[in-house]
Amino acid sequence: MLTETQRADLARELERAGVPTIVDEPMYRHTSLRLGGPADLFCTPGDEKGIQLCLKMAKEAGLPVTLVGQGSNLLVKDGGIRGLVMKCAINSMEIRGNIMEAGSGCLLSKLAEEAAKASLSGLAFASGIPGSLGGAVYMNAGAYGGEIRDVFLRASGLTMEGDKKELDAGDMQFDYRYCALQDHPLILTRITLALHEGSEAEIREVMRENTKKRQEKQPLNLPSAGSTFRRPRGDFAARLIDVCGLRGLACGGAQVSEKHTGFLVNRGGTAADFLTLMDMVHSRVLQETGVDLKPEVRIVGEDAGEQPT
Ligand SMILES: Cc1cc2nc3c(=O)[nH]c(=O)nc-3n(C[C@H](O)[C@H](O)[C@H](O)COP(=O)(O)OP(=O)(O)OC[C@H]3O[C@@H](n4cnc5c(N)ncnc54)[C@H](O)[C@@H]3O)c2cc1C
Repeated sequence: MLTETQRADLARELERAGVPTIVDEPMYRHTSLRLGGPADLFCTPGDEKGIQLCLKMAKEAGLPVTLVGQGSNLLVKDGGIRGLVMKCAINSMEIRGNIMEAGSGCLLSKLAEEAAKASLSGLAFASGIPGSLGGAVYMNAGAYGGEIRDVFLRASGLTMEGDKKELDAGDMQFDYRYCALQDHPLILTRITLALHEGSEAEIREVMRENTKKRQEKQPLNLPSAGSTFRRPRGDFAARLIDVCGLRGLACGGAQVSEKHTGFLVNRGGTAADFLTLMDMVHSRVLQETGVDLKPEVRIVGEDAGEQPT
């Protein structure tokens, strides 16, 4: 565990090298659930050199590194995250023909908009998915019949040791909300997507329809991380939660959404409330239907009051 002075010294050193760094940054500011205690060091490197420097300094100081994107699929516990939290801020994008190459920090919704503007189809499914391109690849994010794997061509990244690595689609082993990086960590820096020529008007029409469906069905006015549980084979978590009578079930300030039972929402609670509610939902669904729901949301950090080891 670093002392306050050590954290401040490391932050100053990273800042001097051009990596924006904040000490004890509350993670609720960086998650769509608006939950989570402080990160010891919160860094936003804007290029590969910055990422390599963060990794080197973390290694020298013996700090764990946690990678985050836009935090739209993250549940950060109330005690926060020890060590260095890194959010890639590689945000440039270019289009050549039907190929889009973008930094992993780019917002997925912005890329969908740019693709539409360039009359390129393939990303309309992604226009309403919050989050970064890096997070979307890691999660193989998808909606309304499309998934990142449909457009993924290749990616560049850095290993946790800072070595460069190139990946093509064959390396990714994409599956439902899964890619190989979930088992073999890698920091994605740039991603290349293969899109198709299309009609801007038609693409925008699909995007409009998808937005309408989201607004009708999802509790977009409340903090959430989207679907809390993965879709079980041949069924939907939302349907199972609903048939178990759990719509609106609350624990402290965490609640099963009244509007969409697949979403657990934050109405002013803590991460501990949210985790307890997840457990309650999991147990009831298992008891009553025999289905063992698995979380889709990634849980990171430590409980409040947990002692560093
Ligand atoms: C209202 C709402 C609606 C949603 N709808 C959908 C939907 O329709 N479909 C869907 O699939 N998801 C949906 N989600 C979930 C979420 O938006 C996606 O999972 C998204 O792709 C996560 O991206 P992120 O940048 O926020 O990643 P984060 O949540 O910050 O991180 C998720 C994981 O990605 C990893 N990661 C992030 N950046 C990188 C990188 N550069 N390199 C390697 N790994 C990285 C992190 O380490 C972490 O394990 C929704 C969420 C909300 C709040």
